[in-house]
Amino acid sequence: MELVVATRNKDKLREIRALLKGLPVNVFSLDSFKGVPDVVEDSSTLEGNARKKAVQTSKFLKKFVVADDSGLEVEFLNGDPGVYSARFSGEGATYKSNNEKLLALLKDVPSSKRKACFKCVIVVADKGKVIGISEGRCRGKIGFESKGDSGFGYDPVFTPDGYKKTFAQMGAVQKNKISHRSKALSKAKNIISKYLLLYR
Ligand code: IMP
Repeated sequence: MELVVATRNKDKLREIRALLKGLPVNVFSLDSFKGVPDVVEDSSTLEGNARKKAVQTSKFLKKFVVADDSGLEVEFLNGDPGVYSARFSGEGATYKSNNEKLLALLKDVPSSKRKACFKCVIVVADKGKVIGISEGRCRGKIGFESKGDSGFGYDPVFTPDGYKKTFAQMGAVQKNKISHRSKALSKAKNIISKYLLLYR
């Protein structure tokens, strides 16, 4: 059984692949298919964007698809960058420029006011029809500098509650036990397993 992850982001794909282990599926990304149109991520919510990616991609490929939309909500910034996490520092944003902007905006903000929450919404769709939606959250704090080289995105500046290391310092195995993505995908795995049993 083929399952397509509706992303071209190699970092997300690596995590999703690891987290989908155990399911009887062969995982592909959009890079395995030619001519898949880019989905315009113009929704104001993570769920809206994840739905768009899952529905449009599964309709076009006529396949079983999982889409992830995720972001970081920072309390001091009233929930920003949120749905705009990927392009926080504007056109041509990189992980580095996004982290630099975030650290600059929080420059003189004390530790007690640096609360943040990673969110991930997963939408599972088959041939244009939504099969299920799941969400995962991971609460933590934004540090005062980047620390660690593992992971991607805001991992070097985010320390999950109950830990002393950033996601980027703790490495993939530990991150995948507690992250927003692992929580959302463990629920999505149940949705997928049931669907495979009933309809495939
Ligand atoms: P999306 O492709 O619109 O879902 O963009 C998600 C963006 O949120 C990424 O480019 C990262 O900047 C950030 N992000 C999402 N999940 C993570 C994570 O697990 N670690 C670090 N940054 C993340």
